[in-house]
Amino acid sequence: MSQIVICKACQKANRVDLEKAQTATPNCGHCKVNLPIHDSVQEVTDQTLALLIAKSDLPVVVDFWAPWCGPCRMFAPTFKETAKKMGDQFVFAKLNTEDHPMGGTTHGVRAIPTLIIFKNGQELTRESGAMPGPRFEQFLKRSVANT
Ligand SMILES: [Zn+2]
Repeated sequence: MSQIVICKACQKANRVDLEKAQTATPNCGHCKVNLPIHDSVQEVTDQTLALLIAKSDLPVVVDFWAPWCGPCRMFAPTFKETAKKMGDQFVFAKLNTEDHPMGGTTHGVRAIPTLIIFKNGQELTRESGAMPGPRFEQFLKRSVANT
């Protein structure tokens, strides 16, 4: 099982073997910095989001959020907890729409938080609004059950 991890230093995509990552911290193949795979959630920009969606074998769930949005901040710990639980089935990413407005515009995000699940470069489904942990897990499981 491998996961695509975008290097925060050089913005290049790396394929990381999840089993090997259990014992040794992976390094970026391009610039050699550590890839913090155990942070569970990857922070993406407009460009690295496109790269992640295009390259990932696992479905990618993206939280489109903004720092000024109360429900977004409330939902952040739920997103992180769920990422720790289900990180072997999905890639969890966050896009700050204030810093990277193009990312939200590209995907027609009108309300935040909006959660979009991508598979093989295509959108599978989306839902807007913060949700409790169990409902978020249901949303994730349902999205892949339909494919
Ligand atoms: Zn790098």
